[in-house]
Amino acid sequence: MAPKKLAAGNWKMNGLTASLAELDAIAARENGCDVLICPPATLITAAVAHSGEVAIGGQDCHAAESGAHTGDVSAAMLRDAGASHVILGHSERRTDHGETDGQVAQKAIAAHEAGLVTVICIGETEAQRDGGQTLDVIATQLAGSVPDCATAANTVIAYEPVWAIGTGRTPTNDQIAEVHALIRETLAARFSDGNDVTLLYGGSVKPGNAGEIFDIPHVNGALVGGASLKAGDFGPIIDALA
Ligand code: PEP
Repeated sequence: MAPKKLAAGNWKMNGLTASLAELDAIAARENGCDVLICPPATLITAAVAHSGEVAIGGQDCHAAESGAHTGDVSAAMLRDAGASHVILGHSERRTDHGETDGQVAQKAIAAHEAGLVTVICIGETEAQRDGGQTLDVIATQLAGSVPDCATAANTVIAYEPVWAIGTGRTPTNDQIAEVHALIRETLAARFSDGNDVTLLYGGSVKPGNAGEIFDIPHVNGALVGGASLKAGDFGPIIDALA
């Protein structure tokens, strides 16, 4: 089995009910490639009614099934709301909420138990890249954030350099290729189906650079923030992947 291609959109803390018109337009652009939209948790149930073939995901979940965790959402709740996927370990969660690799792995276990596919994010900061630590950071995050229960069916890995998220800056194609090759090699060494895991690149993917990025070896799609909010931007990115 080859890795499945996936165009994933992360709406972050953006979107009200009116934004679902964009989802209608995205769903209308079916072209055979897997598409995922992760709206804010408040919109998941409503989004499912607008999604057609587009999968709907959460942006985080708690590691516990239920309990005294004010403001948090469990994996079972996401599933119950109609989500099939959940983004975990996004750099904004790691920065804003101090999430560690170990916590991301615990969340991933909970998500898999609830039947969700996890999109686990990893990526170096600018200081780490400048310090020549990128490959070490990626290896450490992969080892710590991806649980042993990961399979090609329940896990997607997104390489998102922190300095490229929302900045309009992207790594060179060679830099993306180097990291994706390491991720592929590491997964293949650890998991029997590691060669089949979908690997995404994320960080300032736009209609103008998507095609070039999708041509890089071991890039099986993208995790897109800003350019996933409007069908007019996300549609051409989906088309570039097909
Ligand atoms: C993201 O938030 O995962 C992301 C990649 O954002 P952007 O596409 O806006 O850089």
